[in-house]
Amino acid sequence: MDYQLPEELISLKEMASRFAAESIAPNAREWDRVGALPDSLLKQLAELGFMGLLVPESLGGAELGYLGAAVVMEEISRHCGGTALMLAAPNVLCSGHLLQGASDEQKRKYLPPLAKGEMLGAWGLTEASSGSDAAAMNTTAVKDGDEWVLNGDKMFITNGDQAGVYIITARTDLKAPKAKSISAFIVEAGTRGLMIGNKEDKLGMRASGTVPLTFEDMRVPNANLCGQLHNGFYDVLKVLERGRIGIGALSTGLGRGALEEAVRYAKQREQFGKPLAGHQAIQFLLADMAVHVDAARLLVHKAALLQDQGESSNIEASVAKLFASEMATKACMDSIQVHGGYGYMKDVPVERYMRDAKLCEIGEGSSQVQRMIIARAVLAGAAAV
Ligand SMILES: Cc1cc2nc3c(=O)[nH]c(=O)nc-3n(C[C@H](O)[C@H](O)[C@H](O)COP(=O)(O)OP(=O)(O)OC[C@H]3O[C@@H](n4cnc5c(N)ncnc54)[C@H](O)[C@@H]3O)c2cc1C
Repeated sequence: MDYQLPEELISLKEMASRFAAESIAPNAREWDRVGALPDSLLKQLAELGFMGLLVPESLGGAELGYLGAAVVMEEISRHCGGTALMLAAPNVLCSGHLLQGASDEQKRKYLPPLAKGEMLGAWGLTEASSGSDAAAMNTTAVKDGDEWVLNGDKMFITNGDQAGVYIITARTDLKAPKAKSISAFIVEAGTRGLMIGNKEDKLGMRASGTVPLTFEDMRVPNANLCGQLHNGFYDVLKVLERGRIGIGALSTGLGRGALEEAVRYAKQREQFGKPLAGHQAIQFLLADMAVHVDAARLLVHKAALLQDQGESSNIEASVAKLFASEMATKACMDSIQVHGGYGYMKDVPVERYMRDAKLCEIGEGSSQVQRMIIARAVLAGAAAV
């Protein structure tokens, strides 16, 4: 057991922290307002290696592992959840799925441009009629010679408006049980039949783009089948398991941001003749937030370390994501409380953190879905829990 980050990750954390404070924090409110991120940010993130967090160095990535990715995600989301979500989709979902299921040839073709930020990645699982029950998807892929013909839709796809490449899941066997009938496809932007809907007008995570996709007789070469035929849902489950570490880290950053802003404000604002920080009721709020942020980070790092050691983190990732996301929402609400009326205004960042944090309880498996996974493990007597 070692609770210290290795030296190289301490340097990485400092670098990510500095970048987020200098280049993200001053702009995050504006990006939230306009609902978009500038192209220049993608370039800067790529230069730092943050577009290829998990991609091997031999393919142009930073090869930081899940612990390194968690460190970066926390530092970025500390100032802007939307930027962190934009990063999570290509790194953990799109590149993550390629690393899980793609052939060596596919990895060589798609991972280097993703890692260099030459294109963005997106991952399409959710559909209008299938969210938590993702295996109930209706999108179909039917073989026609050397191609697959996809018809259907995807909903709420992060970066879907800007991606150069998508991983899209579809049902390839209409007779098999739902989880055994799904395959994943690599779809390049501009493929005929791929239609990108209007950007969603969201509560939070507004800096990241979210769109619906529609496929009308979209032809994808057989060479773009990603992973084994009909086995795609099992790869999806692995991607989601790892994705939850990313969302857990993102949540930890938002919770930490809420705490740090509350501490700063409580020291400066005076009521009843002393700083808010001098009132015990406020101190207790801050103390609880600090405990919960720390606990969330430990859970996230535990799941990340298991992944980096090549072990399953299925339950640990769900535990981390559930705790960290609910912690983040509560910490943001408490931070707003510490800020009083000023916390309700857009002049201070905590109202944005709160809107961003709520998504973390929904995306990549809602809190209810995480409790279902954890309860199943508890009832089965799983040692990890
Ligand atoms: C901003 C944003 C970005 C996203 N990005 C992506 C992306 O890039 N790619 C992608 O594929 N998807 C993405 N999603 C989709 C996201 O993963 C889904 O929204 C999520 O899985 C929940 O699905 P749903 O919205 O259809 O809710 P539903 O599944 O309809 O659930 C509605 C409510 O019912 C609860 N519920 C459902 N089933 C049960 C049950 N058995 N027991 C108890 N409660 C239950 C849920 O917890 C939830 O509270 C994104 C969503 C958002 C909002």
